[in-house]
Amino acid sequence: MRKSILIFILKVGVIVFCVLRILIAQVPNNTNKVLNLNNKESKKMKRTDSEWKRILTSAEYHILREKGTERAFTGEYDGHFEEGTYVCSGCGNKIFDSETKYRSGCGWPAFYNALPGSVEETEDSSFGMKRIEITCSKCEGHLGHVFNDGPEPTGLRYCINSVSMDFESEKNSQK
Ligand SMILES: [Zn+2]
Repeated sequence: MRKSILIFILKVGVIVFCVLRILIAQVPNNTNKVLNLNNKESKKMKRTDSEWKRILTSAEYHILREKGTERAFTGEYDGHFEEGTYVCSGCGNKIFDSETKYRSGCGWPAFYNALPGSVEETEDSSFGMKRIEITCSKCEGHLGHVFNDGPEPTGLRYCINSVSMDFESEKNSQK
């Protein structure tokens, strides 16, 4: 009788031990997953509306945060062809290389490609048009739209508001 109770206790002990080991082994995995998620999320810049209002000029706020559009042929970078990098005016994220900029004649700065991972595309059906909206992948600021009538090698035309961008000259960055 005592022997069978001992064996029973031993068996329960082994099961509890195994369950504990499995649980302990899973804890670090779960922690890693949570950390990865946090890393991904922390790459995005989250600001409140009042913070954006404080940081941005009224024109930047209107275009980046309210998805506005500057008037055609009025933007600072429409006819600008220096060598360098265009960055998001909301957060400094590098979005376009001057090498991909070209004269589209559309009235806004145009590029045939964006820097990898720098922008996100969303379907936009405002104003009764079907367009693809381009936003900054870091701060989600509105940049412009992308169309399928661009030059080779991509055939794309990224039509971007000058106000949504700042320019970093190649000359300055090499100093
Ligand atoms: Zn941005």
